[in-house]
Amino acid sequence: MKVEMKVEYYPGETGEFIKVIEDNCVGCGECAKFCTRDVWQPDGAIFRPVNLKQCVECGACWNVCEYEAVDFSEPKGGTGVRFSYG
Ligand code: SF4
Ligand code: SF4
Repeated sequence: MKVEMKVEYYPGETGEFIKVIEDNCVGCGECAKFCTRDVWQPDGAIFRPVNLKQCVECGACWNVCEYEAVDFSEPKGGTGVRFSYG
């Protein structure tokens, strides 16, 4: 039996819960490469999380950044993303 994962969005807390630490960012783009939600975008010589409403809180950007340039936190109540299987 095939099981599909659904991602639904509902009004949740938002805000800048993921930030780039500009002094640490070297612009390698690994955060953007591993983000499945196109949150990270280039901005000059660095990358920024600009589409945070699309974030599903997977933590990949924080995990792959080798320069400690991702300030990652989860907003209280989540971002308004709900996963379900069925
Ligand atoms: S992975 Fe880290 S150092 Fe590389 S662009 Fe993203 S935030 Fe900057
Ligand atoms: S937590 Fe995941 S979905 Fe959100 S910005 Fe980072 S890699 Fe993208």
